[in-house]
Amino acid sequence: MSNTNHVTLAAIHRYDLGVIICKSCNEVIATLPTDGYKKFYGLCNSTLCIDKNKEANK
Ligand SMILES: [Zn+2]
Repeated sequence: MSNTNHVTLAAIHRYDLGVIICKSCNEVIATLPTDGYKKFYGLCNSTLCIDKNKEANK
């Protein structure tokens, strides 16, 4: 069924199936209790990522 080869996924499957991933550094920012595995992209609080995102939007 689920692919648990991935350490990150294995941890998430405990409770929340939805994950918010930083689109800059791919860190998992938060999890959401969604009814199925869902991926959302956002930005973490790292100034590096925020600055990077600003550059990309120029
Ligand atoms: Zn980040």
